[in-house]
Amino acid sequence: MLKDHTEAPLPRKLIVEPTTRCNFQCRMCVKQSAGARIEEGDLSSRILDQCLEVMPGLDSLVFTGIGEPLLHEDIETFAAQARSRMPNGSRIGFQTNGKLLNRERSLSLFDSGVNTICVSVDSIEPALFNDIRTSDGFFDVNPVIESLGRNRAEVTAKKTGGDIRLGVEFVVMKQNLDQLPGLVRWAAQHQLDFIIVSHVVAYGKAFQDQAVFLNNSYESMAWFEIYRKKAEAAGMDLQEYSRMLWKYHKTEQETELYRLMDEFKRAAQDQGVYINPVHLFSEKKGAYDAVRTRFDHAEQLARQYGIELTLPRIRPKTNRRCDFIEEGAVFVTWDGQVSPCYFLWHQYEVMRAGNIKQVSPLYFGDLHQGTLGQIWQQRDYAEFRQKVIAYDYPNCHAWCDTRCDYVLQAPFYQDCYINDIPCCDCYWSLGLLNCLT
Ligand code: SF4
Ligand code: SF4
Ligand code: SF4
Repeated sequence: MLKDHTEAPLPRKLIVEPTTRCNFQCRMCVKQSAGARIEEGDLSSRILDQCLEVMPGLDSLVFTGIGEPLLHEDIETFAAQARSRMPNGSRIGFQTNGKLLNRERSLSLFDSGVNTICVSVDSIEPALFNDIRTSDGFFDVNPVIESLGRNRAEVTAKKTGGDIRLGVEFVVMKQNLDQLPGLVRWAAQHQLDFIIVSHVVAYGKAFQDQAVFLNNSYESMAWFEIYRKKAEAAGMDLQEYSRMLWKYHKTEQETELYRLMDEFKRAAQDQGVYINPVHLFSEKKGAYDAVRTRFDHAEQLARQYGIELTLPRIRPKTNRRCDFIEEGAVFVTWDGQVSPCYFLWHQYEVMRAGNIKQVSPLYFGDLHQGTLGQIWQQRDYAEFRQKVIAYDYPNCHAWCDTRCDYVLQAPFYQDCYINDIPCCDCYWSLGLLNCLT
């Protein structure tokens, strides 16, 4: 319980959704999720005005959301308003699909104080790019990135644009994993500063087999190796466990294997590591190395070219961390709803262990009725943040190989430990997803 919730410092990162309209129809977009209920609309200046009081304390403001920010004609006005209040050294950025990022627009953005631009590039091969990111007609992102670089050079030479950072976001999937090292070279050729890589979120069945992250943590794999060797030394194969688990009459050796597996689970759990036999036994040989090799190569190239490369984890964290709450982030939807994170700011469906999970948004206030500072300091929001970073809730991904109705159904009201916050089944805190913040 907070001693005094009004003492909660104001947010340091603000993520604002300029619009939910988009000029693309990407297949992996949350808007394509069968259960998505995302009304289309644009941010009004009235909503941004309600956020102005927190701006002097912000490290960053990012215009992004479930839509294309450049479709909003006033984004430069919003950025300029924010820039006049935000501290020196702070960043104003946005995430874009790049289609509308022509010379005039990029110059007006730089002029308004935007100093970070991140373009979604999921492939450097135009055919695959257009397969993943679908728009009306063929779209070539190369001229956009080239022009962006020239425009930055122009404003930097005139000293009118400040320290501008340009980069790309890449959603890594089976179909584009091989392209990651090439993307780093391509980024270096275009003098980009950063690359953010995230795993794909499966908003529908079509993408659930595209993810390249693995289900087992490094810690659970280390324990698995210890007990695999113990079993081997005793002439047993740990993999036999699933086959004999439900046998009523077990042989002596099967009983011994059962006992060893039990010891394995308890020993790991005593050290805070949860063992999920289904995940352990189903991990495909070589799957980790296939991703590790590409990631290592990309990292080596990024170091060589001086590019900041943010990669997601290949395996989930054992000790979860919610970067949004830990780093003081807050999300504002186009219609003024205040949400704590990316996971909970819209209504949609997502795949979990072969099941369809319904996600309902979590809002702590409406900016038509109060300012962002007031909503941020409300007792319920302050207490929510404290509960999130206590991490005292189940870890569905680590513990369960399927999902119960508590987490599949919306609205969420409790998990199996009777916690009332919907954080137990979140992939963000497992380190699998990244975004511009
Ligand atoms: S560009 Fe972004 S918001 Fe638009 S359809 Fe694609 S993923 Fe969705
Ligand atoms: S809430 Fe449900 S899915 Fe999550 S750990 Fe508990 S029983 Fe498993
Ligand atoms: S759902 Fe995930 S991202 Fe959202 S507050 Fe909880 S842990 Fe953080």
